[in-house]
Amino acid sequence: MADCIFCKIVAGEIPAKVVFEDEAVLAFEDLNPQAPEHVLVIPKKHIATLNDLSAEDAPVIGAMSRAAARIAHDRGFAEIGYRTVMNCNEHGGQTVYHIHMHVLAGRALSWPPG
Ligand code: AMP
Ligand code: ZN
Repeated sequence: MADCIFCKIVAGEIPAKVVFEDEAVLAFEDLNPQAPEHVLVIPKKHIATLNDLSAEDAPVIGAMSRAAARIAHDRGFAEIGYRTVMNCNEHGGQTVYHIHMHVLAGRALSWPPG
């Protein structure tokens, strides 16, 4: 999708520190990390928000979760723990309109979120 920064990262038009890739998803380090470890897992297909997820595209959420768990294992924080977050629309705090799963780790994260 034109003018989508995450589609541009998938296309290789914008650089990113890629940490994992398979046929369905791409994962890279967040530009503005909110924890010592902060990775974004995105589908290669453009889907603007969670509200736009079709039944046909639903398996990509499983692929994103599995990628997050694999990244956690590979980077050594699976056992101590981590958080996955998907923000949706204004009140959810979404700023990039291509769905993404935040993977946050490396410190004890507070709850509830702000
Ligand atoms: P959200 O606010 O949930 O939409 O999250 C968007 C995230 O994308 C933020 O944490 C940003 O720091 C991150 N971000 C924006 N542009 C880039 C980029 N070019 N490369 C890596 N992360 C980015
Ligand atoms: Zn996109």
